[in-house]
Amino acid sequence: MSKIIIIGAGAAGIFAAINIASKNHDAKVVVLEKSSKLLSKVKISGGGRCNVTNVCSEPKELIKNYPRGNKKLKKAFEQFGTLDTVTWFESRGVKLKAELDGRMFPVTDDSQTIIDCLLNECKKHKVDIKTKVSVESIEKTKDGFSLSIKGSENIECQKILIATGGHNKLDGFQWLANLGHSISEPVPSLFTFNLPTSTITELSGVSVQDVEVKIAGTKLAHQGPLLITHWGLSGPAVLKLSAWGARILQEKNYEYSVLVNWLKSANEEETRQNLTEFQVLNPKKMLFNSNPFQLPKRLWEYLLTKSEIDEELRWNNFSGKKFNKLINNLIADLYEASGKTTFKEEFVTAGGVKLGDVNMQSMESRKCPGLFFAGEVLDIDGVTGGFNFQAAWTTAWLVAQGM
Ligand SMILES: Cc1cc2nc3c(=O)[nH]c(=O)nc-3n(C[C@H](O)[C@H](O)[C@H](O)COP(=O)(O)OP(=O)(O)OC[C@H]3O[C@@H](n4cnc5c(N)ncnc54)[C@H](O)[C@@H]3O)c2cc1C
Repeated sequence: MSKIIIIGAGAAGIFAAINIASKNHDAKVVVLEKSSKLLSKVKISGGGRCNVTNVCSEPKELIKNYPRGNKKLKKAFEQFGTLDTVTWFESRGVKLKAELDGRMFPVTDDSQTIIDCLLNECKKHKVDIKTKVSVESIEKTKDGFSLSIKGSENIECQKILIATGGHNKLDGFQWLANLGHSISEPVPSLFTFNLPTSTITELSGVSVQDVEVKIAGTKLAHQGPLLITHWGLSGPAVLKLSAWGARILQEKNYEYSVLVNWLKSANEEETRQNLTEFQVLNPKKMLFNSNPFQLPKRLWEYLLTKSEIDEELRWNNFSGKKFNKLINNLIADLYEASGKTTFKEEFVTAGGVKLGDVNMQSMESRKCPGLFFAGEVLDIDGVTGGFNFQAAWTTAWLVAQGM
């Protein structure tokens, strides 16, 4: 009987174990987990609800949600995509539901439902899971591999899956580099922007449905909902920008200027015209009491104050420099960001084993045949919305085919 070792009992390791064991009845599948807990990130994911996947199913569209991985994932998603995830879980009794923004959760709104399903499948297919077993290094042998285990004897096996997740330091990948793999340096992704010097944080809790956020001096820009928090800016537009800009923002040591267009993609000319038309129709109204753009009241007042507009000013007396200043604050509102805050609902590390070293059909290493990769240990990461788990399910499923 051949022995397959899976290192890591996270989403990728456990999903691969089930799919390998269910296809390979003459192989012994063993999962080694260094902690005492299984699927610990699944448990806390999506605020305890586990955002399993996303309704976006077209591979061409789906890959647009992966700042790292992108085009290399297209074929992978053609083989096992978001619809396959839904079918996989539903055929095992876990119904998923979609929210308006496309995120999919178990109908129970409880991540434990996903954990129970995965662990029941492990039991059914006789997957052997061992906790508190930390793999320190791997050596290639004549017939396979020898794993060196912390405080214990070596383990021999024929094939290995590395599903050890992300690390925030390069030396966390050294054991994989020792086997000949190139590593893309890890940097944080999916974080929110700190604005320590801006009073906009006084509007904490205010959100705007559709804005554009840019990083000054770069091509980085994203549109979507924005949330003002007591430390700065958050919401999907900011999180996406942090993911696509993960490396650039790290190079800037998280000190950069942010430009917000509160009117999404409106330009100066359109905004001037809209303000002028509103002015003609509402000459006697006070600016503080009349808001032409349906922005939240507190935000509108904040932008007027930032443009040094008097509280009593009426539209018929509004012109000149302050008019221009308001336009500027509406479409290119400038903030100085310093530092970042981890997004507690979901965070990932960009970086990991470079995809050039992996056969993306089978997930087998090109440097070390017989050794496979799945999940966040790879240089793949998605924006928030269930895309990170989807990458874990997909790469794990491919491993099962590859093995
Ligand atoms: C708070 C939070 C919420 C999240 N919410 C979501 C969400 O709702 N939707 C989504 O798509 N993504 C979410 N993510 C991201 C998602 O959890 C990860 O992308 C995903 O868990 C990666 O799975 P993985 O199996 O590759 O790695 P992990 O889940 O990190 O699992 C790796 C496992 O390997 C073990 N391990 C590591 N090294 C060794 C070793 N040497 N020997 C033995 N064992 C080892 C670790 O202990 C760990 O258990 C969230 C992340 C966080 C932190």
